[in-house]
Amino acid sequence: MMIIMKANATPQQVEAVIEKVKSVGLNVHLSQGVEATIIGAIGETHSIPTERFEGLDGVEIVQRITQPYKLASRQFHPENTVLPLDGFTVGGGEIAVIAGPCSVESRSQILETAQAVKEAGASALRGGVFKPRTSPYSFQGLGEEGLELLAEAREQTGLPIVAEIMSQVQVDVMVKYVDVLQVGARNMQNFNLLRVIGETRAAVLLKRGLSATVEELLMSAEYILAGGNNRVMLCERGIRTFETSTRNTTDINAIPVLKNLTHLPVILDPSHSTGYSEYVAAIARAGIAAGADGLIIEVHPDPAKAVSDGRQSLKPEKFAEMVKQVGQIAQVMGRKLAAVQGEYAKQGWA
Ligand code: PEP
Ligand code: MN
Repeated sequence: MMIIMKANATPQQVEAVIEKVKSVGLNVHLSQGVEATIIGAIGETHSIPTERFEGLDGVEIVQRITQPYKLASRQFHPENTVLPLDGFTVGGGEIAVIAGPCSVESRSQILETAQAVKEAGASALRGGVFKPRTSPYSFQGLGEEGLELLAEAREQTGLPIVAEIMSQVQVDVMVKYVDVLQVGARNMQNFNLLRVIGETRAAVLLKRGLSATVEELLMSAEYILAGGNNRVMLCERGIRTFETSTRNTTDINAIPVLKNLTHLPVILDPSHSTGYSEYVAAIARAGIAAGADGLIIEVHPDPAKAVSDGRQSLKPEKFAEMVKQVGQIAQVMGRKLAAVQGEYAKQGWA
C-alpha cells in the first residue's frame, strides 16, 4: 500500500503516519522523491482497509500497489533509481559499459584485459572467479586468488569490479573485494542468497534466470530490496526459447517492459544472450536504442584459448569498435557513455 503525502505535509505529519503504519504490524519504506513523499506500507496489507490511513493529517491519497512486487515497482517509486558506482552513475544519463573475461584465468590475462577494456572506454571490469558451470568437470574458477587478481587490476586501471557470487558462504570475501555482486541466471531464485545480499549494502547486478519471466525477475529483486539494500541493477541476459541458432534469445522487449514496471536500472548482456561474438555488437546497439542503462560484455585477449565462453567473447579491438558504435547510439538517445575513471576511490559505497 502506498500512502502519498500532500506536497506541503510537515515532517511531523509524515512521522505520525509512519507510526500508524507500524502500529498495524506493517513495515515502512519511505521514499522522499522530488515530486512527492511516499510512505510504502509493506506486508500483509490486504486485510487492512485504506481508510485506516486516508483521514490522517497530511495524507493526499492511499493506493494499493497492484503488482506482487512493491519496492521494485515504479508505482511505489516513480523516479528512476540512479545508482552511484565509482565516479559514475547507473540508471541516469550515463550508459555503463562493464567488460572483461567470463573467467579470471591468470594474472596476465586479467591485467591485459583490464587495460584493454579501459582504453576502449569501459566503465567497469567484470571477471568470474566462482563459475557456475554446467559440468562439474569444467573449470570452476580461481576463487579468492582470482579476487586478488581483480583487485590488482582495479588498482592499475581504476575500474570498479563486477564478479559473480554463487553462495551465501562467499558473501564476506566477495564484499571485501568487489564493487558489484553479480547474481547469475542460475541463482536468480536462490532466495537464501538473495536474502543475505539484501542484508549487505553492496551494489548488485541481478541477472534474469534462464527461463524466468520478467515478473519473477522483479520478485527476486524484491527479496534484495526487502532486506534494505536498494542498490540493485537488473540484467537481461537472454532466455531459453525453441530457437537454436543462438545460445539464448535476447528478450529486447524486456528492456522497455522493465523500464516501465520498475525504477531499477536495466543492463543488457548481449554476450550470453547471443552466445556468438559476431552478434554481440548488433544486439548491444539494439539494447541501448531500446533504453538499456548499460551493457555487460565478455572480452578476452585470445578468445580461442578462453577457459569459458570463448565463442561469445570479443577481442579487445572488436570491443573498442562496439563501444564507439554504442556511444553514437547513446547520443541519439540523449545519453552518453559513463566517463572512464582514472583512480579507484571506492565512491558509492554505503
Ligand atoms: C557470466 O556472466 O559469465 C554468467 C555465467 O552469466 P549468466 O549467469 O547470465 O549465465
Ligand atoms: Mn560467461
